[in-house]
Amino acid sequence: MSNPSLLILAGDGIGPEVMAEVRKVIAWFDAHGTSFDVTEDLVGGAAYDVHGTPLADETLAKALAADAVLLGAVGGPKYDVLDFSVKPERGLLKLRKELDLYANLRPAQCFDALADFSSLKREVVAGLDIMIVRELTSGVYFGEPRGIFTEGNERVGINTHRYTESEIARAARAAFDLARQRGSRVCSMEKANVMEAGILWREVAQKIRDEEYPDITLSHMYADNGAMQLVRAPKQFDVILTDNLFGDILSDAAAMLTGSLGMLPSASLGATGPNGYPRAMYEPVHGSAPDIAGQGKANPIACILSFSMALRYSFNLGDQADKLEAAVEKVLADGLRTADLLGPAGGTAISTSQMGDAIVAA
Ligand code: ATP
Ligand code: MG
Repeated sequence: MSNPSLLILAGDGIGPEVMAEVRKVIAWFDAHGTSFDVTEDLVGGAAYDVHGTPLADETLAKALAADAVLLGAVGGPKYDVLDFSVKPERGLLKLRKELDLYANLRPAQCFDALADFSSLKREVVAGLDIMIVRELTSGVYFGEPRGIFTEGNERVGINTHRYTESEIARAARAAFDLARQRGSRVCSMEKANVMEAGILWREVAQKIRDEEYPDITLSHMYADNGAMQLVRAPKQFDVILTDNLFGDILSDAAAMLTGSLGMLPSASLGATGPNGYPRAMYEPVHGSAPDIAGQGKANPIACILSFSMALRYSFNLGDQADKLEAAVEKVLADGLRTADLLGPAGGTAISTSQMGDAIVAA
């Protein structure tokens, strides 16, 4: 059997710097019996510089053929002046759209060594391990009609919060599948009290649970209460299933429970691809961080944990993912910190490359 294939798109800013550390991790796995066929290409500003477009057709074709895509970050001040249609971010959006990645997975996990980083008290977040599944292709960001129209003597801005049953169902299945690998609990969040799409969301999620996932415990919560509960007692949750808009907001809130942007991975999953793996793109939550790019200061952990999500969710290599996450946990417990993890107490920061080396050694 051939190895699973991975397309690496390092992108801009700190993207290539953090990706270099992932390559060390991939090399370690290769030397220890788990190999991937890795190809690399350009995306974002780096692709624009060469091809005049943030995502060349050949690159998209490679992404469609690959079993998973691992992306660094795109964008930077150099590209701010570009026309909207060729901005680096458009490359990313096009990839998501063409791969039809409808489920965005954002874990919020609090490593014990960093629990004092959270804006909340240690006891509220220590050991936190939740997963938000955000629907990514529909809802109010895409619904029609949309636009700014003139009505009488004033203008009106309109967006439409629209969900079809099948869009809700496929996001729900992604959440239930995940829950089977975790704690078997899903909390679905919407505003069924004031929104029709919310009523349908609740109904469809419940139906899929009852018909296909009787082993999963499903609860429902209004998203405003969900926001409150996330900052009050986040450990009550395991998997949270929610729509595009609420997911955007709730996952950013959940992210800050854990402290640092440099620690947060993400996955976006779609339907089954050509080789039986789901279409998938993995990327750190952080951006290209132009303020620290080129200085060897970036924290590579978000990107390394994104690769770990690929091991777990694309390739069914949960044991290897556990190993990698344990290595990250160990270096943090040993007190190793990149600059973003130093905090008010200070200390000595290690470089991007030293952090990658330490994780590989662990
Ligand atoms: P985008 O629009 O692409 O999301 P942004 O400016 O909102 O970009 P980032 O590029 O993620 O967000 O940067 C936000 C801040 O966090 C910056 O000060 C950046 O240096 C810091 N930061 C982001 N990622 C990392 C990282 N991996 N390691 C250290 N610091 C980081
Ligand atoms: Mg941002």
